[in-house]
Amino acid sequence: MISILTHSKINGVYINGSWIETKTYFKNYNPATLEVINHVSNATIEHVDQAIKSAQDALNYWKNLTSKQRNQYILEFSKKMENDKFNLAKIVSTEQGKPLKEAISEIDKCFDFINFFTEENLRISNYNLASYKKDTDITIKYEAIGVVAAITPWNLPIGMIIRKIIPALCAGCTVILKPSSETPWSAIKIAEYFSSILPNGVLNLITTDNDDEIGRKLSTSNKIDLLTFTGSSFTGKKIISESSLTIKKLLLELGGNAPFIVFKDADINKAADDLIEAKFRNAGQTCTSVNRLYIEETISTKFIQLLIQKIDKLKLKNKTSNDYDIGPLINNAAIEKVEYHIKDALLNGAFLIYGGKRIEGDGYFFEPTLISNVNSDMEVVSSETFGPVLPILTFNEFDNNIVEKANDCPYGLCAYVYTNDLIKGSNIANKLEYGMIGINNNRPTQVNTPFGGFKESGYGKECGRDGLLEFMRVKSVYSTQVYEPRYTSAIQVRKNINN
Ligand code: NAD
Repeated sequence: MISILTHSKINGVYINGSWIETKTYFKNYNPATLEVINHVSNATIEHVDQAIKSAQDALNYWKNLTSKQRNQYILEFSKKMENDKFNLAKIVSTEQGKPLKEAISEIDKCFDFINFFTEENLRISNYNLASYKKDTDITIKYEAIGVVAAITPWNLPIGMIIRKIIPALCAGCTVILKPSSETPWSAIKIAEYFSSILPNGVLNLITTDNDDEIGRKLSTSNKIDLLTFTGSSFTGKKIISESSLTIKKLLLELGGNAPFIVFKDADINKAADDLIEAKFRNAGQTCTSVNRLYIEETISTKFIQLLIQKIDKLKLKNKTSNDYDIGPLINNAAIEKVEYHIKDALLNGAFLIYGGKRIEGDGYFFEPTLISNVNSDMEVVSSETFGPVLPILTFNEFDNNIVEKANDCPYGLCAYVYTNDLIKGSNIANKLEYGMIGINNNRPTQVNTPFGGFKESGYGKECGRDGLLEFMRVKSVYSTQVYEPRYTSAIQVRKNINN
């Protein structure tokens, strides 16, 4: 466990190129030790107003730079972040709880995002279309959408910020970033790296634990052109409702409830390894985390034994070692949600196969947990648990409705299918109502590929060309030639002067 204790006040309100003192501060905790790491400035509504004005004022200059010029600022930032990578990874691990190796991997992926978006940015170009009318040229132009508010969650404190602010800045937008109050320190570091690089007002940061009030202000402001949000479907719906009196564009990356379907013809060793990673990475706190396993009956006993053998090898936190595979959950509410889902399942007839308890001692650690004999009426199957708990359901070859079962939930972010029959896998993928599907693949996400869900998992895409175009608006310019002599003769010029 990494622990960087500063106990100091840190400033997280960065507006128009200046760090602003606030009257009040909120506490930033280490979820592995429950120690207070920092006291972080708590922004007010007035700060949000100032940040919006600052982003508006900076927009004209920033959007009129060339893509290449904007890229240069961003690549300079990338170098700064790279030089401080291990320090940043320690900060992520300290305030979010994930093992250091996972924090490093999160940051490494950010460099891929930056490289991709800055390269793709140079490939976006205006184009002409043939007109149906004579003497008319039509040009389709891409331009920055305007002022962007970005609200980010705590589970990937750097990754989620980079995926939003880099394409926004590349596109020529100016940004107001509001990170989660659980992980403000990582966001402050990002603003710090940018602070000596970007023109004033292009990136503004607001740290606060006053989520509802500040969130409402951002949602209802008609000076914000696009609000990009990653977080729970519950908060996403609030944002839709509160922003409805304005006509701002929303990008919503919301909750998931990923099914993991294993057929008897699958490579079960690979399926088990992939499942463990996709379930217990970040202690089950990623939107693409497996939330329910569907395993073909004939191999279920063998598969569960294999899972148990592999889970036994995962390193949990203990008193003598700080080297662990499964970090803490983010806060007590997260532990309570996990406990509630397990209790609800057990009360309704489920069997506890493995784990099931909070790990005693400091920190919000929870045992990896397997539960069987579950059904879709139980919270652990129907809702997103966001913790290290895996409910196991079975199906048999006469069940024709495995796809129906997998689709039977309000979310549609990510699903996994394991089979050695790729035609079967592909047919199932076609019918699954999920935005991202892995066939024998537990990481169906890549920087150049659109990321995003269906149904209550939100709308709009991050990553890929689509994730960059979201921050641009499209303008069609029709230009009709008016017949006039193109070049005035020297005689005509003299006549005009004399008149
Ligand atoms: P959350 O909805 O509680 O908070 C997300 C952000 O919204 C935070 O910055 C929070 O401060 C802010 N917020 C809270 N109330 C608000 C309000 N009324 N108005 C505006 N903003 C408000 O979610 P969380 O607990 O931080 O994150 C976990 C959730 O995020 C999970 O459901 C997970 O699946 C989802 N998630 C989705 C993706 C994706 O890409 N689809 C990625 C990561 C996480």
